[in-house]
Amino acid sequence: MKQIRIIGGGLAGPEAALQAASLGCEVALYEMRPTRSTEAHQTADFAELVCSNSLKSESENTAPWLLKQEMRRAGSILLAEADASAVPAGHALAVDRVEFSRRVAARIASEPRITIHREEVTALDPEESGTLTILATGPLTSPALAPNSSVSPAPTTSPFTTPSPHRRRRHHRHGPRLHSCPIQDEPEGWL
Ligand SMILES: Cc1cc2nc3c(=O)[nH]c(=O)nc-3n(C[C@H](O)[C@H](O)[C@H](O)COP(=O)(O)OP(=O)(O)OC[C@H]3O[C@@H](n4cnc5c(N)ncnc54)[C@H](O)[C@@H]3O)c2cc1C
Repeated sequence: MKQIRIIGGGLAGPEAALQAASLGCEVALYEMRPTRSTEAHQTADFAELVCSNSLKSESENTAPWLLKQEMRRAGSILLAEADASAVPAGHALAVDRVEFSRRVAARIASEPRITIHREEVTALDPEESGTLTILATGPLTSPALAPNSSVSPAPTTSPFTTPSPHRRRRHHRHGPRLHSCPIQDEPEGWL
């Protein structure tokens, strides 16, 4: 039986894990939270939406609608769970983020071919044979695997001009504020 190691329990990792398991693969799913978190995640949940709970437009013939339709036809499990977690949002598909994560976690828990490892993967072994590795660690991959990657797009204000920063709470009324600021100069070390 094919062994697959999937690193990352955000959105891409669980989708890959569930699809691979449904095809008969033995899956080892690695997620570093809660042992180590990122600058943006707030929970240890699988499929945490780190920002907006909107999966964008459901208006026919828009690009986000087309992408979701293609994913539905391809059998996306996470999109099915998003549909099942939908909350009213006009022409968009928005989800109850807690319910969405809960449903995805339940799907993973009910799949005996998936073994969960709550640990940070700190190295990849290119010589390793027999196991396919899917790297699904997203934009906030831990420094051990991506020492030169970009950092969270929620920086301090110091390297930025702030003539009119846009401040907004993205999660809920009492959540942390994010500041969107125009960039004038490239900060030192910017990649
Ligand atoms: C601040 C912020 C705001 C964003 N806002 C939006 C938005 O509004 N809309 C939008 O579409 N996208 C937004 N994004 C992008 C968003 O992150 C992606 O759309 C989505 O989360 C990508 O899914 P993913 O599975 O690739 O990565 P993630 O959902 O980030 O999942 C990656 C997982 O890998 C884990 N991981 C990382 N390194 C390791 C390691 N070494 N070992 C084990 N586990 C590891 C992480 O803990 C995480 O759970 C935002 C990103 C950030 C940082």
